[in-house]
Amino acid sequence: MSKHADPCSTPSLMHPDEAIVKLLAQVDTLTDSEMVQLPQALGRVLAEDLASSIDLPPFNNSAMDGYAFRFKDLATSSTLSLIGESFAGHPFTGKPQPNTCIRIMTGAPVPDGYDTVQMQEKVTAEGTTISIEAPKALGANVRSRGEEVKTGGKVLKAGTQVGAAEMGVLATIGASQVRVTRQVKVAFFSTGDELRPVGTELAPGQIYDSNRYSIQGLLSRANVEWIDLGVIEDDREAIRQAFRSAAAQADMVITSGGVSVGDADYTKQILDEEGEITFWKLAIKPGKPFAFGKLGKAVFCGLPGNPVSSMVTFYKLVWPLLNKMQGLTPAKPVQLKAKLSGDLRKFPGRVEYQRGILSQNEQGEAEVTITGGQGSGMLTSMSLANCFVILAQEQGDTPAGTLVTVEPFNTVLS
Ligand code: AMP
Ligand code: MG
Repeated sequence: MSKHADPCSTPSLMHPDEAIVKLLAQVDTLTDSEMVQLPQALGRVLAEDLASSIDLPPFNNSAMDGYAFRFKDLATSSTLSLIGESFAGHPFTGKPQPNTCIRIMTGAPVPDGYDTVQMQEKVTAEGTTISIEAPKALGANVRSRGEEVKTGGKVLKAGTQVGAAEMGVLATIGASQVRVTRQVKVAFFSTGDELRPVGTELAPGQIYDSNRYSIQGLLSRANVEWIDLGVIEDDREAIRQAFRSAAAQADMVITSGGVSVGDADYTKQILDEEGEITFWKLAIKPGKPFAFGKLGKAVFCGLPGNPVSSMVTFYKLVWPLLNKMQGLTPAKPVQLKAKLSGDLRKFPGRVEYQRGILSQNEQGEAEVTITGGQGSGMLTSMSLANCFVILAQEQGDTPAGTLVTVEPFNTVLS
């Protein structure tokens, strides 16, 4: 970064990275946990480390369909006599003898006394006389007991979110239920006299309330329990009641709208009266205004009303808070460099989250195209995009061909 003062920087605005650190310091991880049955564990956060009570795999078994034998027997003869078979779920019950082999299937136990498997494609069988091409090494094609995890070994850490792979890992160790942190409860509502719910007619000057649906989508992706409190009109007492009711039933209250300068004075006044609220001006575009504080025992996040701004501030600020509250070990979002496919407009002063379409060009390079109009009300720019193009505060107009930082949307936004 330049040592000289940047004439375009806006010192009164807080950098979003600084805001995240400050916000995280103000929320606590929920301490209560509960047991859930394995099928209900998807998306939940593990409340404790999990060790395996069995070896993985639990017994020596074959990685191939073929023949099992003692490796050293092939040093003296390439033919062995067949004495039995081992199928998955039906182990060989006899006793391995020198210079013998058994037919074996993938996943079937390799009996003690045999140590190696050769795939059937490298074997010729004539009755019980089996000619085997020697494999490269002792133990070939055998998955040995405990080679992945030994009994008592840790398989999953507290703070891990249970995804498809974790569901399988839990089943592999035989866990029929699992301890997870309680789901964070989030109550949310939209504010604004112009907002109408879908399914109704619009009068002049009215628009449909879209934020409640994008926020619901984000909350579902965050695996929290959500409570939709609808649209609240710009009325002192209605807003007061909504805040009280939201704070009484949730760990977090999220609203959208009414946090920009000169707007929804009632919201600000009531928040001041009912809780401890700070209005922040962030050096981020879209999404400059953001309100944060405490309403009773609940954490309060007031998102800007513009639809793209509310999604971006949720993604950037609320998402990490929810992660911390539910005890999730935070993963840094993946960022990479991509070549800008066209010129890009930007004024220095704020960090911008422009919406981009990331793809691979014919040379195999990562390339990103801005989705068109970047107005903070243009929500289609979010649905067209698969990544944010993140432009630093001091950056200005940027020509095609420049390598820019992109953050692909993960499951949060898609
Ligand atoms: P505000 O933050 O209340 O000043 O609103 C900023 C802009 O976002 C205005 O154009 C509002 O009409 C719009 N807006 C506010 N809330 C919503 C919402 N829930 N859905 C769609 N647009 C909204
Ligand atoms: Mg408003």
